[in-house]
Amino acid sequence: MKVKKVSEHIWSVKIWVGFPIHVWLVVDKDGVTLVDAGISIMSNTIIKQIESLNAGPLKRILLTHGHADHVGAIKKITKTYDVPVYAHQIEIPYTEGELPYPRRNKAQQLLPKELLHPLEEDENGVLLPIGNLKPYHTPGHSPGHVVYYHEVDRVLLAGDLFTTKKGKLRGPMSVFTADMVQAVESSTIIPELNPVKLEVCHGDAITHPANQYTDYRKKMEKKDY
Ligand SMILES: [Zn+2]
Ligand SMILES: [Zn+2]
Repeated sequence: MKVKKVSEHIWSVKIWVGFPIHVWLVVDKDGVTLVDAGISIMSNTIIKQIESLNAGPLKRILLTHGHADHVGAIKKITKTYDVPVYAHQIEIPYTEGELPYPRRNKAQQLLPKELLHPLEEDENGVLLPIGNLKPYHTPGHSPGHVVYYHEVDRVLLAGDLFTTKKGKLRGPMSVFTADMVQAVESSTIIPELNPVKLEVCHGDAITHPANQYTDYRKKMEKKDY
């Protein structure tokens, strides 16, 4: 497992299981936020890294979405730290096993009921900032997929909205993606925010991803994924 400093306030923890899985630790004034929770064998490394940051306790866990490879370490981490876990309200019934994810036959309970809290929204359904991060609803890979933007560091934690390969922006893994057309529409978050760095769960980071955006759209419109 590998721990890497991403930017002034963000660290990533990565494991390789035939493909990479990343989670992120974001340092706030009052403590640490974990974004995504990988798979269970990452738990101890994540906890050790929270301790070695010496930046206060874990405050919360934020999920980009509820797929199994993003929630695995929650059980152990919430035993060590009694913290709330947040996801978009649309994602919660899928992760709690009430609804099957689109294109799946069966519902699967990935987390115990009542563990997940919905991310707060204003009266227009716009997600409110949490910790130092601003969530944006980016459906497609899953119905309630969210990305988190750190405005100070200009880093976008994009979960599974994209993958990357050899420094190139790629679409999300198609077999696990609920609605690819919608995921491509949600990718406009890149030119909207123009992050300096894009972090994805299953791939290496990309700097200035907006430079590749036109090529990305062309490729995806040709259904080259
Ligand atoms: Zn996923
Ligand atoms: Zn994933």
